[in-house]
Amino acid sequence: MKIHEYQGKEILREFGVPTPRGVACFSVDEAIAAAQKLGGKVWVVKAQIHAGGRGKGGGVKVAKSRDEVKLYASQILGMHLITHQTGPEGQVVRRLLIEEGAQIAKELYVGMVVDRVSQRVALLASSEGGMEIEEVAKHHPEKIHTVRIDPVAGLDATEASRVARAIGVPDAANGEAVQILQGLYRAFVEKDAMLAEINPLVITADNHAIALDAKFNFDSNALYRRPEIVAMRDLDEEDPAEIEASKFDLAYIQLDGNIGCLVNGAGLAMATMDIIKLYGGSPANFLDVGGGANKEKVTEAFKLMLKNPNLKAILVNIFGGIMKCDVIAEGVVAAAREVSLKVPLVVRLEGTNVELGKKILAESGLPIISGNDMADAAQKVVAAAGGQK
Ligand code: GDP
Ligand code: MN
Repeated sequence: MKIHEYQGKEILREFGVPTPRGVACFSVDEAIAAAQKLGGKVWVVKAQIHAGGRGKGGGVKVAKSRDEVKLYASQILGMHLITHQTGPEGQVVRRLLIEEGAQIAKELYVGMVVDRVSQRVALLASSEGGMEIEEVAKHHPEKIHTVRIDPVAGLDATEASRVARAIGVPDAANGEAVQILQGLYRAFVEKDAMLAEINPLVITADNHAIALDAKFNFDSNALYRRPEIVAMRDLDEEDPAEIEASKFDLAYIQLDGNIGCLVNGAGLAMATMDIIKLYGGSPANFLDVGGGANKEKVTEAFKLMLKNPNLKAILVNIFGGIMKCDVIAEGVVAAAREVSLKVPLVVRLEGTNVELGKKILAESGLPIISGNDMADAAQKVVAAAGGQK
């Protein structure tokens, strides 16, 4: 689960990380009032969306007067902000962060992720802040310093100080940088983050280190014990189909192809998408109905897939283990009737009571195309969706 920059900075402050003072706003009037309250002569007007690259897309503007705050706030609020992370439609800006302006001498990068190979939290740090870290990793990998943090000892001050020096933090700001790195690590662990990033971490003209940006992504499996994080969720930033799916306990991810996939089990769902690709098709979604799929769940799953205007055909791929194939077949038939299905439907069933399941499908009177195995079903659904892409 992602949050906004201003929420990320609230968390950072809780862990002793210095940030610019700022106020989150929902209207131009609030933005003007915020600039007045913050005082000073320079403010930064920042679009709050769950995507990076806002600066390049025109979502971060430095204002040198209250009139400029008003101008930029009215330009940015409501705009479709397009960045390399939003896709071509962009994301509508509904919230702003108004901050006191900082005098930047250096922009650095620090971030933390879970490193699966070492099974530790990895600290990544670089002198090349402000830009995309993926670009630095590609063109200047030697400029990224990595520390895999011992989970028992945590990030000790000596190590943090060494990293700060390696990325060019001046000695005068070394103590603050250590505090930032240790605070970021504690926030990461104590809030169950999967990713935490400060880009840029800036050194100001008067040698202070501050977090100018904040990005967090939290492990959704841990949200049950982090109500304060759940409270920060902004549904406007999430895919409506995925929100709907989570209500019915369906694991659904919208994709950009045209073949809907309804599968039980995440592994089988991945394999189904792979085999569709292998035969030249393109999946419209990932959808795992789970082990306990009943008629209601299957119907909701059909409704979700059918909301996608790109959908050309559906492949149901079910392995009946504890779930019996006849129960699934009845669910599919009932769901197809209820939604009065207009696109071709290919069904591949395997497992317990498979013959009975196939009989129910055949006798339903619905134009269901039966797949004998995964390869056969994938080829049939690719053809039904209009052939290879
Ligand atoms: P992102 O593009 O979505 O990552 O947004 P950031 O919060 O990182 O802002 C992008 C860039 O705007 C930063 O790298 C800075 O160069 C610039 N910026 C942000 N805040 C300030 C500020 O207070 N003063 C100045 N001069 N520039 C700023
Ligand atoms: Mn940034």
